[in-house]
Amino acid sequence: MKFSDFDFDNDVLDGIESMGYENATPVQEQVIPLILDGRDIIASAQTGTGKTAAFLLPLIQNILDHTNNDHGVNAMIIVPTRELAIQIVQTLEGISYYTSISCIAVYGGGSGDSFATEKKALSSGVDIVVCTPGRMISHLNMGYVKLQNLKYLVLDEADRMLDMGFYEDIVKIISFMPKQRQNLLFSATMPPAIRKLANTILVDPAEINIAISRPPDKMEQGAFICFDEQKIPLVKHVLQLKDFASVLIFCSSKLSVKRLTADLKRMKMSVGEIHSDLEQEAREQVLIDFRTKKIKILIATDILSRGIHIDDIDLVINYDVPHEGEDYIHRIGRTARAASKGTAYTFISDKEQYKFHRIEKLLGHPVTKLPVPEALGPAPEVREDKPFHKKKRNFKKKR
Ligand code: AMP
Repeated sequence: MKFSDFDFDNDVLDGIESMGYENATPVQEQVIPLILDGRDIIASAQTGTGKTAAFLLPLIQNILDHTNNDHGVNAMIIVPTRELAIQIVQTLEGISYYTSISCIAVYGGGSGDSFATEKKALSSGVDIVVCTPGRMISHLNMGYVKLQNLKYLVLDEADRMLDMGFYEDIVKIISFMPKQRQNLLFSATMPPAIRKLANTILVDPAEINIAISRPPDKMEQGAFICFDEQKIPLVKHVLQLKDFASVLIFCSSKLSVKRLTADLKRMKMSVGEIHSDLEQEAREQVLIDFRTKKIKILIATDILSRGIHIDDIDLVINYDVPHEGEDYIHRIGRTARAASKGTAYTFISDKEQYKFHRIEKLLGHPVTKLPVPEALGPAPEVREDKPFHKKKRNFKKKR
């Protein structure tokens, strides 16, 4: 479906064209007409499906059509992380370039200057605010934020926000808003807490389910069962398999990100790191360096696995097995975006084998196990897991 088939102004279509989008993605096809119609939405859609533009485009059009408010905030998009806030604003600036829409990202961790800039925008008026919950509460508590004309609320990555403990903050922010508004809720998963949130804020929502989270078909997935001390030599081995230009390595903790970064730097590899101990500026700089290919390998905690657009990543390495299946899908979803092919390798230590079986269950199939090179010494034995046994077995208790 072409974007010209929707009821968008020419200025919006020009923005879409400048972003290089030609055809609407499936989530866009389903969601855009409903939002243009003024419906509340609850949508489960994976990142990489084009869900950001799916809500931004009709939001822009609705603001252009229905609001005449120069003195307040028209729409608020609440997101879990500052990286996602910045990125949504970047997309927003691109697609609204030819319109009069104004927007600002409001997130913690910036400088004193950024607080003053945010305060000015929130008190004098801005069409769309993209914010993290904590920072928004700080502004709301000061009493100058003009929400009396707000007509649109978007909660993006809602499950992540609840995981991060933002439920109360979200409810508090909403308590400042007028009751009459359009609400859009996007979430990768739909656990009961999301249903509860949806029941309290959405009115007769249209429910959209863009398949269950699955990695793109064109992705090559493999896994190595190895001992912890084999993981660093394995990174070296994997990097030699092909001429990978951009590599993202995920670790489950800040500590392992720091250790691995130091180890690879010692091996003279082109590496950067990103985790929550870094200052905002350092995080932004490392993302720029990675996007512009100044550094080849970026090592990150899960902070980066959701929602962040870095195109052209050709290899994702899970240095350890993520805690949740959804995190695995989000991590490897950083590759094989758009038309490109991607590869994702997971390093599974002996004690992580059970955790990985749970992920395979979520995927619906086992991931191919690749041999650890002989030069790295013997690897752990592959453990079978109950879910893949057709027959039930009785295990005797060990004494
Ligand atoms: P998202 O699911 O919002 O994280 O978007 C994933 C990527 O797809 C981003 O890099 C978008 O710029 C891109 N994208 C969104 N919509 C389209 C479209 N209709 N055609 C091509 N690329 C798109």
